[in-house]
Amino acid sequence: MDYQQLAERLFPQIQLTPDDIEARYPARQLPEGAKVTRIAPSPTGFMHMGNLYGAIVDERLAHQSGGVFYLRIEDTDQKRLVEGGIDTILSVFHRFGLQFDEGATKEGDHGVYGPYQQSKRGEIYQTYVKALVAQGKAYPCFCTEEELNAMRSEQEARKEITGYYGSYARCRTLSMEEVEKRLDAGEPYVIRFRSEGSTERKVPFTDLIKGKLELTENDQDIVILKRDGLPTYHMAHVIDDYLMGTTHVVRGEEWLPTLPIHLQLFDALGFKRPKYAHTAQLMKMDGTSKRKLSKRKDPEFALDYYFETGVPIAGIIEYMMTLLNSNFEEWRLANPMADLDAFRFTTAKMSGSGSLFDLDKMHDVCKNVISRMSADEVYEQVSAWAAQYDPDFAAIWTANPTYAKQILSIGRGGKKPRKDITLWSDVKSYVSFFYDELFTPDFTQMPSAIPQETVRQILTDYSQQYRPEDDSSAWFERIKAMCPAYGFASEMKQYRQNPQDYAGHVGDLSMVLRVAVCGRSQAPDLYTVMQLLGQDTVRERLARAAQTISA
Ligand code: GLU
Repeated sequence: MDYQQLAERLFPQIQLTPDDIEARYPARQLPEGAKVTRIAPSPTGFMHMGNLYGAIVDERLAHQSGGVFYLRIEDTDQKRLVEGGIDTILSVFHRFGLQFDEGATKEGDHGVYGPYQQSKRGEIYQTYVKALVAQGKAYPCFCTEEELNAMRSEQEARKEITGYYGSYARCRTLSMEEVEKRLDAGEPYVIRFRSEGSTERKVPFTDLIKGKLELTENDQDIVILKRDGLPTYHMAHVIDDYLMGTTHVVRGEEWLPTLPIHLQLFDALGFKRPKYAHTAQLMKMDGTSKRKLSKRKDPEFALDYYFETGVPIAGIIEYMMTLLNSNFEEWRLANPMADLDAFRFTTAKMSGSGSLFDLDKMHDVCKNVISRMSADEVYEQVSAWAAQYDPDFAAIWTANPTYAKQILSIGRGGKKPRKDITLWSDVKSYVSFFYDELFTPDFTQMPSAIPQETVRQILTDYSQQYRPEDDSSAWFERIKAMCPAYGFASEMKQYRQNPQDYAGHVGDLSMVLRVAVCGRSQAPDLYTVMQLLGQDTVRERLARAAQTISA
């Protein structure tokens, strides 16, 4: 039996050749410089910040260059699959607004470079593996799990590098007769790649993020096809990214150590290599030291966390851009209202070492992003969030959209917009005093220097004085005019000059009214609030506060 015959014996079902396959994947017709990128998550049911981080890089590289951004589902590890895992991937990316040009969708494949789900590409992988076997570049390995474990223990005991290489690669040197005998006996096998590499040699390599690197060649005969007929990540990555025309592979730096394997496979298969960008891990501060964001310890690692807590998607993307490109923040300062697409993203500005992920900073960014949104947009986003996570509030909030948008319009627009909202989940408490159903006043927030009796008097007095038809200056004049009766300064300036001459000032008086009407000391412009609440509610609240305080 020669290699060709061995290949036939191992893959009788495969009648295609690599040329047949390649004919199905013509070169993409794209403008000069257009990049083709992909994200290739595994449907494990868990989507995390690392997935999003990489996806943004891919999306920007492709769409900024007039290229293609596609989604491939990497489901060759059948043990890790989770029911509904693909739907989770699709819906999470959809919620983040990532637009794929092709790839897996809920309705099946979109695009002509598929199938985009690896488990449906068995024949393609096997065709290439068969060709490698026929050329003597790959061979069947019959070693059992137990044998491999024993070998590993032996290597560890001898303090040697573990793995299948050199004299440890037993099946590499099996005679054809032996192979035939074991196949005849029906022994299960995997297919391994016959490495010609040596750890004595280095592979020079330039990564788009990490720069120039010197990697040690791979001398391990890695598994390329498993017993179930599906490839390992290494083989699948090389074949798929070649056939699908990926120009730039963006992936986590955990793949850097196995890059020499991938380069070796690209060469052995005669494929042109893509460019690689290995992204640094997301880190966080834990006490005074930095560590990797962890699935187990950090709820904020999971993308679900952001949906539940109502972090605005636009804020997350904006924050991720600050982590991804060192010049982004500066650009944003100079272009506060510009669309993100106007920023020129580049891998050259990405940090080669771990970016520090900081939830507080993200919240800060969110606050700014929301402050720049229109009231309509905030209304829609809050409604969508509440519909899913707080239906009781959603019912109150969406009952009168015009009113809700008027509330959101307070202090919106202009150079210095208000920044009251960080999360969609903040809105309920921020707007609660605008809704009788949610109004839970805290009168302990009344200015403490003013005696209760005075507070009560101010409230009853103001109820008489209050004229709902006042414009904002008449409204304020009326409040000022009340001051002398209580020994308060009606101008702050007067008070500051001689505080000892006064029992308080106009600000204190307004605060009494604010706490009565809003039930709290922190609230937006009181005149506007009162206009929105309407005179009945204002009067009711003044009376209720006066009563509660005197009681
Ligand atoms: N399926 C791999 C992962 O989830 C993808 C790595 C890659 O992008 O090539 O880590």
